[in-house]
Amino acid sequence: MDLVGKRIYLAGHAGMVGSAVHRRLASEDCEVLTTTRGDVDLRDQKAVHAWMADAKPDALIVAAAKVGGILANDTQPADFLYDNLMIEANLIHAAFEAQVEKLLFLGSSCIYPKLADQPMREDALLTGPLEPTNEWYAIAKIAGIKMCQAYRKQHGCDFISAMPTNMYGFNDNFDLQSSHVLPALMVKVHNAKVNGDKSYEVWGSGAPLREFMYADDCADALVHLLQHYSGESHVNVGTGEEVSIRALAETMCEVVGFDGELVFDASKPDGTPRKLMDSSLLRGMGWSPKVQLKQGIARTYQWYLDNADSLRA
Ligand code: GDP
Repeated sequence: MDLVGKRIYLAGHAGMVGSAVHRRLASEDCEVLTTTRGDVDLRDQKAVHAWMADAKPDALIVAAAKVGGILANDTQPADFLYDNLMIEANLIHAAFEAQVEKLLFLGSSCIYPKLADQPMREDALLTGPLEPTNEWYAIAKIAGIKMCQAYRKQHGCDFISAMPTNMYGFNDNFDLQSSHVLPALMVKVHNAKVNGDKSYEVWGSGAPLREFMYADDCADALVHLLQHYSGESHVNVGTGEEVSIRALAETMCEVVGFDGELVFDASKPDGTPRKLMDSSLLRGMGWSPKVQLKQGIARTYQWYLDNADSLRA
């Protein structure tokens, strides 16, 4: 898709990925349309259909979702399932009715079976049981992928989907109860440093392996897909590199400048042991990531320091 002169509705522009896509689209000659929760509740079918019929965008990026870390997923299963199903069903169907030329739906690497072969290829989808701590979110995201495929098959819509790995960056959720591991460790190490503590707490065993991608790198990949990909399969968006939670926790100490100890809390869940994606389909389209983990963490920490007061407000 040539983005020049196009009107692109970016649903979820205030979130971490959405805001990164917004920054990335600023360098394209296109118009970006956004809505706030106050304008349009994306779980409300009537509101979404009315807005879409009126705005008639050329393209839609579905970056809106209810997201959260391992504890939030595990304790609010109804919200994770309902909110995400409603958001995607409303947006995808309304896009079809409004004859949106191209739609990009975003999911996550948790759609894959808990014990999928690593690195996980796109065709590992639905080959085994999901990780129980986030199956609610995963089921909703799998339904979103299938909706894109179904509208493509039945109606010839150019609806594609991308599955980013664990992301981090500006506008992430830094609330310790509901965040993902990377921002959580950033806040914990920062607080430990400020308070002069001797140690800080890391959930689980520290052994699980995760892949992390800087949100602005991911945004660049998503715009690349919007421009160059029109296939039925969803596309993995990852770096191909993984680290243990222990190694991540140590890197965080280096970036923040804290030399205390890590204390592991075994009462918290480890979740899936490993979650590395095979991103060769995307690499084959001529795209690769640019920001190294430590560099991305340093940029995010600077953003956190600049915005910590408003985050606490
Ligand atoms: P997941 O990738 O869906 O499992 O979600 P998370 O990012 O929330 O957790 C990833 C891993 O980091 C799990 O093994 C967690 O137990 C571990 N972890 C360690 N410390 C923390 C923490 O403070 N917060 C979170 N959310 N996870 C942590």
